[in-house]
Amino acid sequence: MKIIFITAMLSLMMTACAQNKAQVQGAAANQEETFSLNDRIEKSEAEWKAQMSEMEYYVMREKGTERAFSGDLWDHKETGVYVCAACKLPLFSSETKFKSGTGWPSYYAKINDSHVKEETDSAFGMLRTEVLCARCDAHLGHVFTDGPPPTGLRYCINSASLDFEKAEKKADKEKEDKK
Ligand SMILES: [Zn+2]
Repeated sequence: MKIIFITAMLSLMMTACAQNKAQVQGAAANQEETFSLNDRIEKSEAEWKAQMSEMEYYVMREKGTERAFSGDLWDHKETGVYVCAACKLPLFSSETKFKSGTGWPSYYAKINDSHVKEETDSAFGMLRTEVLCARCDAHLGHVFTDGPPPTGLRYCINSASLDFEKAEKKADKEKEDKK
């Protein structure tokens, strides 16, 4: 009996995973902007500095961290996509944002694997995984393994590294395209 139950649970979980994957891939395919590693954006530090606020430059180019609860997106709840503040590449969906209580925007998944890069960070005597924009190398934050289901991951991201694009915008645009 127990075995039947476990088998049933396993097949349920596998179906759920497959569905999630299909949804994520679908979402990625819908992005207006598709990114390949050949499309990287590289600018001099002076060029980045000129287009950014001091806080954005400190976080994205100098790998700084904004103070908890100081950013404008940690408690942001609208439906849409969070894009890189430096190059506008879509990074996280509002569907995966959750309340972490940390004071930084938190997500349990990235929008897709090619847009968000992960690297080992041993600064400050801690071994952490740094999260970066794959197109322009902007520092976004870190990913930890104490997040909620379904991934168990917690992408802890600085508001300064993100801009928000409301979902309505896209829906309106699609309507216009159909006209
Ligand atoms: Zn970027």
